[in-house]
Amino acid sequence: MPSNSLLHFITNIIQFEGFKATNYHFITENELLIELENKERSSICPHCQKQTDKVHQSHRYRVRDIPISSYDVFLLVNRRQFRCKNCRKVFSEELSFVKKRRTYTSRLAEKVIKEVLETDVVNAGERNRMTPAEIDTILKDKTADCLEEKPRDLKKLGIDEITQLKGGKNYAAVLVDLDKRKPIALLEKRNKEVIAEYLRSLGSAILNQIEEVSIDLWKPYKTVVEELIPNAQVVADRFHVMTQINKELDDRRKKEKRQAEKLTNKKEKELKLEGIKHSKYPLLKKRENLNETEKEKLKEIEKVAPELIAAYQAKEKLRDIFESQITSDEAFWKLVEWTESSYKYFPKSSQTIKRWIDEILAYFDNRTTQGAVEGINQKIKLIKRRAYGLTNFGNFRRRILLNWHFC
Ligand SMILES: [Zn+2]
Repeated sequence: MPSNSLLHFITNIIQFEGFKATNYHFITENELLIELENKERSSICPHCQKQTDKVHQSHRYRVRDIPISSYDVFLLVNRRQFRCKNCRKVFSEELSFVKKRRTYTSRLAEKVIKEVLETDVVNAGERNRMTPAEIDTILKDKTADCLEEKPRDLKKLGIDEITQLKGGKNYAAVLVDLDKRKPIALLEKRNKEVIAEYLRSLGSAILNQIEEVSIDLWKPYKTVVEELIPNAQVVADRFHVMTQINKELDDRRKKEKRQAEKLTNKKEKELKLEGIKHSKYPLLKKRENLNETEKEKLKEIEKVAPELIAAYQAKEKLRDIFESQITSDEAFWKLVEWTESSYKYFPKSSQTIKRWIDEILAYFDNRTTQGAVEGINQKIKLIKRRAYGLTNFGNFRRRILLNWHFC
C-alpha cells in the first residue's frame, strides 16, 4: 500500500474536486492507473431531490485522463449506484469529471479537441499517444452532445447559406443564433424540407419563443418560417438587399462596356473604354471607403457614362436609408420614393424591394441583420480551406460545430 502522503500528493496533482486517490500502480512502465474514491458518502436522488447514502451497487471502470509528464494516466473510477431511501428508485451518481458511458475524462476531451482544432487529428493523436480512432470517438461524442444541446433561449435566428465544398455547386444552410453570434446548425441542403425538418426537431417550445428570423431574399425560407415559427417576425437581411443592388449595378457596368466595344468611331470607343476601365470597385464600394484615386475614377466614369454614376448615386442613397435612424413608417415612404426614382436603374431590385417590403421594413424596428452570419461564414471558409474534414459533409459539419461550441 502506498503511503498516505504519496496518495495525498497524487490527489493534489490530479485535482478532482471531492475525490481522493486511494491507490495507484503501473500497468506498464509508462502507464499509470490511479484508483479514485468519492469523499462524499451520499448523493442526491435525481427523481425526488432527497439525499441518500444507500449504495446499491459499485461500478468500477477505467477511464483515460490527461497525461502526467511522460505517463499515460488511467483512472479507476467508481460510479456508484444508489437506491433512494425516499422514493426507492435506483440511480447512478453524476461524476463531474467524466460523463456517463464515456471512457475518457472531460478534460482529456477538451484538450484533444482543442489540439485537433489548432492542428489536426494526427498531431493531436501523437501528442496524447492516442490512435486516430480514439481521437475520432472523442470528436464524434462531442458533436453528438452539441447536436443534442438545443438552443433553448434562441430569440433571433438567422438563416443563410454557404457553398459547401471547395468548388462545389451545392449550398449548405447555416442557422445562426444572432444574439450569441454562433451557428446552431449546419444543414447539408438549404432546401425547404431540410430546414423544416431541423426546425421541427427543436420542438414547439423553442420555436414559439423565437421573435425574429432574418433571412435572405428567398421565398422558400419565408414560407417555412411562417409555417413553423408563427410568432416570429421575418426580417429581410439588409446586406442581401444591397448584394442584389450591387449585382444589378455591376451588370449595368458590364453592359455599358459591351456597348462601348461595339462603337464604330475608334476615338470615341477608346475614350469610353478607358473611362470605364477598372470601374468595378469604385462603383461597388461604399462612398466613405473610396480613396482619392477611386473618387477620381468616378469623375472619369461620369464623363463617358453618366447613367452609371446616376445608378451609383441611387445605390448609395438606398444605403443611406438603411443607415439612417428612422422608424419603419418613415422608411416606408423613403423606400417608395426610392423605387420610383431609381426604377430606371434598378428594375429588378425595385421589384424585389416591393415584394419584400414588409420584411425590409421590419429591419427598421430592431435593426436585426445577419452581420454575425457574415463573420461566421468567413470563419467557415477558413475551416474549409484546411485539410482536415473536407472529404465529406459529416466531417465538415463536425469541425464547424466543434469550433463554435467548444469552449
Ligand atoms: Zn428519490
